[in-house]
This record gives sequence, structure tokens and C-alpha cells, in this order.
Amino acid sequence: MRAPDDENLFIAGTVPDALAALASHGVGAMPFAGGTWIMRAPIRREPQAAFYVSLDRIPELSAVDIAIDRIRIGACVTHSRLAAQLAEVEPCHGLVTAAGSAANPAIRGMATVGGNLSTWDFPAADLPPALLCLDAEVELATTDGRQRLPFERFLATRRELRPGTLLTGVTIPRRPVRTAHARLPLRKAGDYPVAIVSLAILLDRNGAVEDASVAVGSVESTARRWPELERKLVGHPLDPETARVLAEAELGAFTGRDGVEAPGWYRLQVLPALMRRAVDAALRSQS
Ligand SMILES: Cc1cc2nc3c(=O)[nH]c(=O)nc-3n(C[C@H](O)[C@H](O)[C@H](O)COP(=O)(O)OP(=O)(O)OC[C@H]3O[C@@H](n4cnc5c(N)ncnc54)[C@H](O)[C@@H]3O)c2cc1C
Repeated sequence: MRAPDDENLFIAGTVPDALAALASHGVGAMPFAGGTWIMRAPIRREPQAAFYVSLDRIPELSAVDIAIDRIRIGACVTHSRLAAQLAEVEPCHGLVTAAGSAANPAIRGMATVGGNLSTWDFPAADLPPALLCLDAEVELATTDGRQRLPFERFLATRRELRPGTLLTGVTIPRRPVRTAHARLPLRKAGDYPVAIVSLAILLDRNGAVEDASVAVGSVESTARRWPELERKLVGHPLDPETARVLAEAELGAFTGRDGVEAPGWYRLQVLPALMRRAVDAALRSQS
């Protein structure tokens, strides 16, 4: 694929400019963020868009705002910047691990949060399970206005979003939870993880689990929570080996997807060990 040129590229300076450009070029137009996914469209045998609207000069989309009660991440923040800026910020340990271990350094330096969340046909994405555990909200903008969606709802509906919709940012409430992200990449799978476990755990003053969010990525076509396991964790001390055994007993909740890099059964088989690793990392993280 050739890079977009002046003829088929508009560099937007504001969100309204970007929305107007997308609207005026209709269904043939597409947002262009880091370009890491778009530039590989021919490998996936996907057609090139007729027109691209570049988002990376929009200041609002490149900001990370850290407040006492919430964190807002602009859609054009790259994976490397996210990992660097939130490295010492709680409850972001899991999210930082997700952003800092996805793909490879070159891709992380260009690939954006908005681009990652908008590639709905990429099951192995790292950010969705990490954000699911954090009760994140997604901000969307169209020429009709802006709205916020709970992250779970966004994942369920993102495929049907109206053409020309822009993801403008993600907001995370700050809660005193311990978070972690464990992934299993396989060499033959390139840089993609074959299975991912993310979690956010609230411990009570006695060290027992008061609230648990566990999300699984890459095993099915879209990341999703694991409520059967979450319920089993609540009320008990957080322990890596116990979590592994509980995860093993609840594997029936998922149907592993077969892919060129790994069969579905294998994705399920590695989940208990990933759960143990994630709990171990969560216990070592701050809350
Ligand atoms: C070699 C390789 C390895 C990878 N490994 C991993 C991995 O291990 N883990 C992982 O999570 N990901 C991985 N990825 C995927 C990578 O994270 C995505 O390519 C990247 O996040 C896409 O972001 P981008 O900014 O480059 O998006 P772009 O390529 O610019 O856009 C991708 C899609 O999103 C749309 N889009 C972009 N921004 C917006 C927005 N703000 N609003 C609406 N639509 C938008 C575009 O129109 C396009 O359809 C890998 C990619 C490559 C190439």
C-alpha cells in the first residue's frame, strides 16, 4: 500500500474538523492514527480507503490527564507514551503492562489507543482486556455530538458504529484496586499473544477479595469478562495457586477460537497459568 498523499489525506487540527472531513467524504473515508494497522491492509487482503483523515495533530487527542478521581487518555496517545506516562500511576499497573508489552518497540511508538480499540476484527489486542477490568468508558464523537459508553458496551457495538464516528478518548475511574496483565506470546505467532488475562482486585482490610474483575483476551473473537471466576474469588484471600485451580475449574466459560497461530484448545489450556501469573503480579503491585 502506498502512504496517503495530499490528494487523499486531510490533516485535521481539531475534532470538529476531522468529523467534518470524514462526513464530507462519506463511507470511503477513514480516520488515520498511527497507521500501523492501516498500512498492513494489503497483507490482510483488505482494500485501501479512498480518503484518510489524519488525527495526530489534534491536541485534544494527544493528552493524558491525571486527576485525583480519574484518568483521561486521548485517542492518539501511543502505546509507548501511555506506558511511560502512567508507569507510576495507580491503578494502571495492568494497563501499563498491556501497553508496554504489546507488539514491539517500533509498533508501540506509533500505534495509538484509539487505533487499537477501533480494530474490532483483531482478537489479540492487549488494551481491551486491561480496560475492561478498569471499568473504563470510551468517548465517541460524531457530527451529532459526543457520548460516553461503558467499555463493555463499546466492545459489543463498535463494529456497528456509524461511519465517520471518532473515538476521542478513554476515561478510567481511579479505584484502590491492584491490577495486572499476563499474556502469552508464541514465537510462531509473531508478536500476537495467544491468550491474555487482565485483572483488577479490591482487597478488604483483612486481605480477602472484596471485588474482582477478570478479563480474557485473544481466546475468543473479542475480549470479555470472566464472571464465573470473579464470583469464586470474592470472599477469599488472594492466592496465585488457588486462583489457578479456580480458573481451571471454570474454563468451560470460554470457547477457544482456532487460529493459524494456535488452536482453540491451547488458548484455554494456558489460561490457568496466566491467571496464576496475573494474581502473583497483582499481589506485588501497589493499590
Ligand atoms: C507487527 C504487529 C504486531 C502487533 N502486536 C500487537 C500486540 O501484541 N498487541 C496488541 O494489542 N496489538 C498488536 N498489534 C496491533 C496494533 O496494536 C495496532 O496495529 C494498533 O493499535 C493500531 O493503532 P494505529 O494508531 O496504528 O491505528 P491505524 O492503523 O491508524 O488505524 C487502525 C484502524 O482504526 C481506525 N481508527 C484509528 N484511530 C481511530 C479513532 N480515534 N477513532 C475511530 N477510528 C480510528 C482506523 O480508521 C483504522 O480502521 C500489532 C500490530 C502489528 C503491525
